[in-house]
Amino acid sequence: MKAAILAIGSELVHGEKLDTNSQWMASRLADLGIDTRTFAEVGDDLSEIVDLLRYLGERHSLVIVGGGLGPTQDDLTREALAAIADVPLIEDPASLDAIRALFARRNRDMPERNRIQAQLPAGTEAIPNALGTAPGVWMTALDATSFVALPGVPYEMKAMWDAEVVPRIRQRGWVRSVIVRQIVNLFGLGESEVEGQAMDLTVRGRVPEVGITASDATIAFRITGTGPTEADAHAQIAPTLAIIRERFGPYIVGEAEGIDVQHALLAELERRGLSLALAESCTGGLIAERITSIPGASRSFLGGVVSYSNAVKTSALGVPPDLLATRGAVSPEVAQAMAAGVRDRLGADVGLSVTGIAGPGGGTPEKPVGLVYLGLATASGVVHRELRLGSEQPRSVIQSRAAKHAMNWARQTIQIRDQD
Ligand code: AMP
Ligand code: MG
Repeated sequence: MKAAILAIGSELVHGEKLDTNSQWMASRLADLGIDTRTFAEVGDDLSEIVDLLRYLGERHSLVIVGGGLGPTQDDLTREALAAIADVPLIEDPASLDAIRALFARRNRDMPERNRIQAQLPAGTEAIPNALGTAPGVWMTALDATSFVALPGVPYEMKAMWDAEVVPRIRQRGWVRSVIVRQIVNLFGLGESEVEGQAMDLTVRGRVPEVGITASDATIAFRITGTGPTEADAHAQIAPTLAIIRERFGPYIVGEAEGIDVQHALLAELERRGLSLALAESCTGGLIAERITSIPGASRSFLGGVVSYSNAVKTSALGVPPDLLATRGAVSPEVAQAMAAGVRDRLGADVGLSVTGIAGPGGGTPEKPVGLVYLGLATASGVVHRELRLGSEQPRSVIQSRAAKHAMNWARQTIQIRDQD
């Protein structure tokens, strides 16, 4: 089944607002095994909406329409649908009752203007909206194409999708196969390195399909399995998942959307019963923020010091002033002293530090923007690592990469040391 999604709203085509609904709907359709072929966006102009609806309806068997169901003059979706089906708009008593009831629940009388939202193309089905005034419309027209119109307000649209649209799609027998997606997130390899070691997996037409995407230096494998049931789809994925785990094991940080180096570090600390303290300079608390965004972080994370100035590196962490003077704040020696200092002062098993030049200013030929030193202090000693993150990179990228590399390096170093 081929689907199209049409987003209606002048604010969308004028670039004032991003069409987030279409992406959400397309991913939900994909989960049901329905193939979205076309996205379209159009402003609040009746003849343009009608033209596009006709164009999409002639080429797809399902057209999802978002927006333009409000009570104002620029809400034209009902009218456009009626034009496509060549039927009049008539008042739907059940929808009118629902709109009145919604106002009554808010202790208000229904403004006369909202009555128009109960005007639906004749012969169509209203899709109830439990959260707002605009009912959706399910209309069959143009040689058995289904047009499904939903309000633009994202939370109303999503609730209606789950409660009303998906059951109707299933009822009609359009869900022939289930799609299951498995994500595997890696950190520490470049996208092309990963691709180079996975050519056999990413080849077009392979079953299950494997894609690679990169976001902020985290590389994600996306395995897509299909089958008549969810269990079949999982079974199709399993051998490929095993290959990826085997080939990329040490680099894997998580196997779900958003599970990244901070989760992997916390899990590693917890597994080994180790506590962590942070001394952050150029990352300004970013590592602490990412770690504390994970529920249960308190089981391993004690706290941290944002030691941005040299004075605080000395007063809060005990970094010797002469070390700062002779080696500079961005140096292997200072990174090590910061890590050892925070480990000691906060009484942690592991002290992790970051000091670097985030830019855009402050770089020199010897110490360019993007130069970062990491320090790690554990019971078995203090080590450091140098990163060169690229002097052309914006400050936010250098800070984020430094944070991610620091957490990933700490995780790997803890693992290796424990095996010794
Ligand atoms: P409408 O249903 O056209 O009255 O839109 C109601 C609200 O939802 C407005 O704030 C719109 O900007 C917003 N909206 C409409 N379409 C979308 C969309 N495709 N993505 C995100 N927001 C939208
Ligand atoms: Mg609108």
